[in-house]
Amino acid sequence: MKIFRLPKNPAALIFDMDGTLYTNDEYMRSQLELPVKKLAALRGKSFNEMQGAIKQYQDDWAAQNPGKRISLGNTFKAFGVSIEETIQWREMLYDPERYLTPDPKLRQTVTLLAASYKMAVVTNNPVSVARRTLACLGIDDRIPIVVGLDTCKVSKPHEAPFRTAAEICGVPVNACVSIGDRYEIDIALPLEMGMGGILVDGVEDVYGVLPYLLFDSF
Ligand SMILES: [Mg+2]
Repeated sequence: MKIFRLPKNPAALIFDMDGTLYTNDEYMRSQLELPVKKLAALRGKSFNEMQGAIKQYQDDWAAQNPGKRISLGNTFKAFGVSIEETIQWREMLYDPERYLTPDPKLRQTVTLLAASYKMAVVTNNPVSVARRTLACLGIDDRIPIVVGLDTCKVSKPHEAPFRTAAEICGVPVNACVSIGDRYEIDIALPLEMGMGGILVDGVEDVYGVLPYLLFDSF
């Protein structure tokens, strides 16, 4: 875990979902592979050819945009798949119920945090997938706000979903803390926007944020 900045009086916590509120390599891998498989079938290519082409595009993009990473949604846009189609594909293909189970330690953590902070998730997945994921983890009732790919029709890193989450929370941007597992996607832009930022290696680090965010209780 690395804490980049914490506001003086944080009022809202904005969590990334995948790789942050759960750690499950198999499910994460399925989220990358299933849309690539579908795109390969549509384009009459093998999975390996399609995956290679996508990786090449992302590597080229990163070389032209130092320090940044392009989301899978924006990559697919470049391959002729609209954000609306990406939303539909993910709703159809992703299967959190197959991989995830309730996490009592996470529930305990977010329950304590929810007593002090507005709680939101900002994800590049559709809201329905995020809600199903929260339900699998047993914390759906603890995180009332979800901003997904279908909320603003743009992928992180983009200001719109972060601003929207702050607005729905009803708190100024500089009272929010973004918590996520990818610096370029979840942390760099929120810091530029004036939010706090905490980079985590996975859900185990989320269990560990309590002392930093609930200092008065310790
Ligand atoms: Mg993530």
